[in-house]
Amino acid sequence: MRAGGELRGSASDRRARKMKLLLKFGTGITCPCLLRIHPCCERQLSFGTLTVDRLIPGSAGGRYVWGNILPACIRCNERRRDKPLRHVMSSRRVKTLMARMEKAGAL
Ligand SMILES: [Zn+2]
Repeated sequence: MRAGGELRGSASDRRARKMKLLLKFGTGITCPCLLRIHPCCERQLSFGTLTVDRLIPGSAGGRYVWGNILPACIRCNERRRDKPLRHVMSSRRVKTLMARMEKAGAL
C-alpha cells in the first residue's frame, strides 16, 4: 500500500469521489485526463479508468477533499506519484489546469 493509503477512506468513499468527479467533468469522451503527464495519455475517462489524483500530493499533506481532487488516468497518476504539480507540469500548464478546474466548479 502506498504511503497515506489510510487517508483514502473506504471503498465506498473512493467510489463516491470518483462519481463526483465524473459527474462534474463528464464521462467518456467529454472527460479528458486533466494532467496529461503520460505521453500516451488516454484522455478518456470512465468510471473504470478514472483515478483520483490530488493537486497537493499526500506527501505534502494534501487530502482527498473537494478542491484538492482531480481526475487522472492511471498512467498519469502513477507517473506523477507524489510529486508536486510544478515538478511534472510547466507553470503555464498548472495555471491552465487550475483555470479549467475552476471553470468546472471543482475548486
Ligand atoms: Zn492521463
